[in-house]
Amino acid sequence: PPEHSRDMTETPTHCPYCALQCGMTLGGSPVRVTPREDVPANRGGLCQKGWTSAEMLTVPDRLTTPLMRARRGAPLEPCSWDEALDRIAAETGRLQAAYGKDAIAVFGGGGLTNEKAYQLGKFARIALGTSQIDYNGRFCMSSAAAATNRAFGMDRGLPGPITDLGQADTILVVGGNVAETMPPFMRHLTEMQDRGGALIVVDPRRTATARQAGLHLQPTPGTDLALANGLLHLALTEGLVDEEYIAARTNGFEAVRTVVNGYWPDRVERITGVPVPYMRETVRLLARGGRSLILTARGAEQHARGTDMVTAFINLALALGLPGREGSGYGCLTGQGNGQGGREHGQKADQLPGYRKIDDPAAREHVAGVWGVDPETLPGPGRSAYELLSALGTDGGPKAMLLFGSNPVVSAPRATAVEERLDSLDLLVAADFVLSETAQRADIVLPTAQWAEESGTMTNLEGRVLRRRQAVRPPDGVRSDLEIIAALADRLDAPGKWSCEPAEVFDELRAASAGGLADYSGITYERIEAEGGVFWPCPSEDHPGTPRPFLDRFATPDGRARFTAVEHTGAAEDVDQDYPVYLTTGRVLAQYQSGAQTRRVRALVEAAPEAFVEMHPDLAERLGIQEGADVRVASRRGTATVRARLTDAIRSDTVFIPFHWAGKGRANLLTNPALDPMSRMPEFKVCAVRLEPATPN
Ligand code: SF4
Repeated sequence: PPEHSRDMTETPTHCPYCALQCGMTLGGSPVRVTPREDVPANRGGLCQKGWTSAEMLTVPDRLTTPLMRARRGAPLEPCSWDEALDRIAAETGRLQAAYGKDAIAVFGGGGLTNEKAYQLGKFARIALGTSQIDYNGRFCMSSAAAATNRAFGMDRGLPGPITDLGQADTILVVGGNVAETMPPFMRHLTEMQDRGGALIVVDPRRTATARQAGLHLQPTPGTDLALANGLLHLALTEGLVDEEYIAARTNGFEAVRTVVNGYWPDRVERITGVPVPYMRETVRLLARGGRSLILTARGAEQHARGTDMVTAFINLALALGLPGREGSGYGCLTGQGNGQGGREHGQKADQLPGYRKIDDPAAREHVAGVWGVDPETLPGPGRSAYELLSALGTDGGPKAMLLFGSNPVVSAPRATAVEERLDSLDLLVAADFVLSETAQRADIVLPTAQWAEESGTMTNLEGRVLRRRQAVRPPDGVRSDLEIIAALADRLDAPGKWSCEPAEVFDELRAASAGGLADYSGITYERIEAEGGVFWPCPSEDHPGTPRPFLDRFATPDGRARFTAVEHTGAAEDVDQDYPVYLTTGRVLAQYQSGAQTRRVRALVEAAPEAFVEMHPDLAERLGIQEGADVRVASRRGTATVRARLTDAIRSDTVFIPFHWAGKGRANLLTNPALDPMSRMPEFKVCAVRLEPATPN
């Protein structure tokens, strides 16, 4: 194996991919992965992605030298670090002098460690002085974050430790296919079922998760809100709501009661296609016993009304008296590895570290004090991810973008428009460890260390802060993101301290987060080590951390949860004569997100080599499409060509394309960027398409 992939010691750490952050040990030569038994999230299990993750350390197309184009259209050529960094500093200075501070945008990622996310937000605000920063987590769970902030005053993944799931009576999973996205999570669901608990899944597809469920509700895409209101209507008519809890711990139920009155079971069945007896059984199971959980994932969240869809399920959970009680409640199944921590420390357009609002004067004063700058100099809120990408190169929009750990050419909706915007920039800089599809379009590419080559902290879907430890040396020529940020801050004469040491950056993050909602001030590397992770908020070193945050009070000013009445309106784009079929997008077991990492791992490529369109045999027959044939799928935004995979596990009015691939099978050529008004989440989960057999070349 190459020198850099040889181990130093057996190193306990966590998986590079999803928010479950399974524990693993790395060691041996070449590096070998062993699952850890001591991490509650995976208890000795890993999925195929985790088992094969060490292969990423030796991918043949690893970048080890900076690349630069002499001019637009010229090829990327190797250059020195000084040449690359000097040019970035000079170009950003020139563009800001001509167009103002917001001429430079920064785009981060939900896979970055807490330390990197924090440092990137600080870099944007005080080194560049730009408000134009956001991250790809906006495309992940931002609707759940907006809904939980509205209802509970705070947003934090699961309502308690993951081990609570195995003790539950009933779990309702809405729009989540954990059997494929995070398989070791299924152990907790299986444990619950083995104890007699009920698993209910809401999904337009009969996924691997739905197949394990005792009850599968298969609604028309875009109708989850009507379903949730219908379930609450039934809970009311059957006398299952917890009036005592509603009176003691919530506000606003009467408006919800009035709205859900109109969601008669037969009306909801007409809207959603879910039979009334299935709905009735669902509320009965949720209301039995005291320990039920409602968990939403991207299927409920990635909608132009995603915040309201999640709110409808939170209303149901509140009406049944679930949140704020041990072992029950509402939770979000966070997707990306640091989707949780990545949104807490300042790389979101509207937030400062500690989950503080950027337009809150007290928050600005506190954070500016830690950074050693005048609060007046901090920029205000910027554009959300898709709005930022759409503004690139336009009049009044950013002229340059610095991108870390993200691949929006594959992961953003309406991908061709995103490509056009990226190509219109004066300067695109991508920091990555391989030449992702987005890095291929960059003017300057900075080769970074990855995952097991550096250390830092991640916050998993439970809200538990974990340590990722360095297990191998990075190859010669690459730098960590923290080193890149520090070198640029130095060239830009930025105020403050710019450490390259994750432990030092974490200490600064602790101070910046102190007193905020996501208070990490009592969490130290030593405590994480000794305690196997610490739950935030944790406001002092003698505080035990907060595994279950809402037991006594919610994080609202009066401590009570807030109901919000929401009405079903349907998807932003409905099917019609021209585009008569619903498209929904999602994930498969052997690939992860935009695929920049997993499409380079041999076993994963063999398991899932290309995009496909999953469709019902009845629909295929109507359209003259055979199993395995190439199919042209067109929406109002573009056309993708993918292979047909016929299955009766999907509704006959709906097709599914996973979004992990680039090229002609890219699902996001088709998706609709209609944005949720609160979360600014695009509607990845439903749009209208037409399909036809692709004519042979
Ligand atoms: Fe990694 Fe997620 Fe798989 Fe666990 S479930 S091994 S964290 S990808």
